[in-house]
Amino acid sequence: MWMRMRVGIYVQVPFCQTRCTYCNFHTGVVSSSRFAPYVEAICKEIRNHRELYTANRVTLPATFTDAVVDSVYIGGGTPSLLDAEHLQRVIDAIRENFATDLMEVTLEADPETVEERKAAAWVRAGINRVSFGVQSFSDRELAAAGRMHRRADVYRAVPILRDAGMANISFDLIAGLPHQTMESWRHSLDELATLAPEHVSVYLLEVDEGSRLGAEVLRGGTRYSAAELPSDDEMAEFYEMACAFLQFAGYHHYEISNWGKPGLESRHNLKYWRREPYLGFGAGAHSFSGTERWANAHDPAAYVDVVQRGGLPVEQHEVLTIAAALEEELFLGLRQLDGIDLGRIEREYGVTLAGRFEPLASAGLVERTGSVVRLAPTKLSVSNEVFVELLG
Ligand code: SF4
Repeated sequence: MWMRMRVGIYVQVPFCQTRCTYCNFHTGVVSSSRFAPYVEAICKEIRNHRELYTANRVTLPATFTDAVVDSVYIGGGTPSLLDAEHLQRVIDAIRENFATDLMEVTLEADPETVEERKAAAWVRAGINRVSFGVQSFSDRELAAAGRMHRRADVYRAVPILRDAGMANISFDLIAGLPHQTMESWRHSLDELATLAPEHVSVYLLEVDEGSRLGAEVLRGGTRYSAAELPSDDEMAEFYEMACAFLQFAGYHHYEISNWGKPGLESRHNLKYWRREPYLGFGAGAHSFSGTERWANAHDPAAYVDVVQRGGLPVEQHEVLTIAAALEEELFLGLRQLDGIDLGRIEREYGVTLAGRFEPLASAGLVERTGSVVRLAPTKLSVSNEVFVELLG
């Protein structure tokens, strides 16, 4: 049976209430008076996307003509800071300008921003999944990281969302925050299990020199609890503990950093790892057509200005070579616990890859079953080293 192409839409809202110490994202703390013009610009970009792509020499494949949008992800930043009416306008603009079958509409939210009136309006707007930046259930760790919320905010917010009818909630946790210990990490996992989210993401803290925490680590200082960071070995142990704990709690580990209750894996995020198409709107948003990648300008003020003047927000545009696409297949494929079907890759790209994986298999870094190759279960916590071996 002929299937219409399924496409995801990502909407970037680069505003936050404060700046977390470890953050290196292109986000900023701005007056709420900036929200409405920003939302207007996104709606305009959505309405005019085809003309804007043509002007930027982005070529959408013919299959996009009758593509169906089945997932929307509103991320940031902290998009739950926006008025619910703003979010409704964005989702309405998507519905009015694309064929839609919105199976999954995710809003990233920080726990302290959740209110009853907002939660009810989110559900009315069509949002059916909330991704919470919980990060930790330890107030000491949250305070050191510069987070706005505390443990009690999570316990307050989840029942509000459930009462509003939000059936799909995801929690983000960060392994490696300053002051984190094996005991406090285990405690965060226990508290997560008490609240029983449908989905969990566990990220290993990357201390980037572009963050305040990273700069402090580089200069050997103690601000932001920089001297209290767990070691790499401890972080790997936190990750291993999360793998065992979440498996026991009934979550399906489907991507290095992601677990879902069976059938509730993130439909939208799977598109990134499976190299399925998605369109991004807003400052700094990235898009992928299957053969081309492009990204908008990062600065929100510049983005609003250029869109309102009818200009072109796209700042980077790349037509992927076969070699670049193949590298992506390997890198993104290995991130998924199902692994890579080398037979499919060899058919689609006309290459033979078995030899490339042999040294990794001999070193115990990957496992092979028939034509499928996947990361060895004991090497998930050091996946970056495996990727360097494979692609380096
Ligand atoms: S909430 Fe997220 S995007 Fe905002 S400052 Fe913190 S880490 Fe950065």
